[in-house]
Amino acid sequence: MPSARKQEFEQHKLAKRLRHQVGQAIADFGMIEEGDKVMVCLSGGKDSYTMLDVLLQLQAKAPVRFELVAVNLDQKQPDFPEHILPGYLESIGVPFSIIEQDTYSVVKRVVPEGKTMCSLCSRLRRGALYSHAAEHGFTKIALGHHRDDLLATFFMNLFFHAKLSGMPPKLRSDDGRHVVIRPLAYVAEADIAQYAEAKGFPIIPCNLCGSQENLQRKQVRRMLDEWERTSPGRLETMARALGDVRPSQLSDRHLFDFLALGRASDMALPAAHAWLSGEPLEPASETRAAPAADAADSPARVLDIPVRLQA
Ligand code: SF4
Repeated sequence: MPSARKQEFEQHKLAKRLRHQVGQAIADFGMIEEGDKVMVCLSGGKDSYTMLDVLLQLQAKAPVRFELVAVNLDQKQPDFPEHILPGYLESIGVPFSIIEQDTYSVVKRVVPEGKTMCSLCSRLRRGALYSHAAEHGFTKIALGHHRDDLLATFFMNLFFHAKLSGMPPKLRSDDGRHVVIRPLAYVAEADIAQYAEAKGFPIIPCNLCGSQENLQRKQVRRMLDEWERTSPGRLETMARALGDVRPSQLSDRHLFDFLALGRASDMALPAAHAWLSGEPLEPASETRAAPAADAADSPARVLDIPVRLQA
């Protein structure tokens, strides 16, 4: 195939894959329903442009009617090119709002020189966007985080905060007022980069503020990139694992009732201090769970078979 045609074919395939993955995420998590008014947060980066572009394509054929409004927060960073987003959004005929709030000065004032500003900056941005959503009756807030962001957050929490927790495709905001959706949850960052380049989105760089990304996040991103480079497909495998959690195969006693598992009687169990104090224990039978042949295949993954041990 001549190279121009081959390129066109590849771009067509990529666009189709993105539509498919976004449509699948929307369906899997019930992200959008009839009558929704969706605020699409647009930063001017490749991710949010791609999100808006794909949502517009899906909206044209969707089985439900919903509204999309692009919203950008102008944080008053020096040299922010204010004309780019309005120009682009007018050219594609999408309703939009630009909110102006000088969070840049606040962050500069509060964060000591040389420290990363991203965490406070993001919190202030989120606050401004959520307030706008509440004032204008948006029912959903769409953010452009993608599959690799979800994975990076998962590993940040695992390595630095000792918890298995990530960035969900859909969540209720802490104040309970908003539903946040991440339609790119299944999309790889590399695909987004390629798509944004092919589409020629007018990208606004995210380093106008001069801040550096958090060091831990950088480390995690490097690790993920390296894994993908040496074992292509590993990120996709790990991303699939985020949607396939097996509480009985982990150790969280709040998610799975290990205490009840394999009990032979309903007598109270001795607490830890009783085990350590040397006090004589009531004679009690010990129980354990037999290894499930293949717990992974079980629809009820808590199907551990108790086996009574001889005392
Ligand atoms: S890079 Fe700058 S604009 Fe982006 S989140 Fe960090 S502080 Fe905010």
